[in-house]
Amino acid sequence: MCIICRGDPLEGLVELDCSYCPNITEIPNIVGLQRLNCMGCLNLASIPNIVGLQELDCSYCPKLTSIPNIAGLQILRCSGCLNIREIPNIAGLRGLCCSGCRLLTEIPNIIGLRRLYRSDCPFLEDDNITKVVYIQRWIRSKMQIRNFNVRLALVRDIHPDLLNICMSYYSVF
Ligand SMILES: [Zn+2]
Repeated sequence: MCIICRGDPLEGLVELDCSYCPNITEIPNIVGLQRLNCMGCLNLASIPNIVGLQELDCSYCPKLTSIPNIAGLQILRCSGCLNIREIPNIAGLRGLCCSGCRLLTEIPNIIGLRRLYRSDCPFLEDDNITKVVYIQRWIRSKMQIRNFNVRLALVRDIHPDLLNICMSYYSVF
């Protein structure tokens, strides 16, 4: 039984862990909450748009059909959510783990995304974002190179196609 089921007061919580609770079907909207772990809640059907939430782990919630677009969310883990069809384009999201979300057909172009784990998503066709995340890391390792044209040339030298991909996701520069 988790803190929600026990009926404990939730006001003022910064972090809430109600993982693996089979009873909860929804999460209360807690003002000021920054981190929420509701992983493995087999009957959880919805998560509110919690203002100020920074990290959300809702992995392995099979009844969840959508993820709210929470402004300011930095880390989203939703692996193994078998009924999620799309990931919202959350401005500022830095890390996304959606491995095993088998109904996903695309991942939005989230500007600034740094880490992406998306294995075992059989219907994802566009592989560009994986390349871009890789390139972002690589370019970051070359950050001492300040000259834009030199960076362009470096990317072009790896493979001509990468330049086009990078230009369509210009934020990598
Ligand atoms: Zn519970």
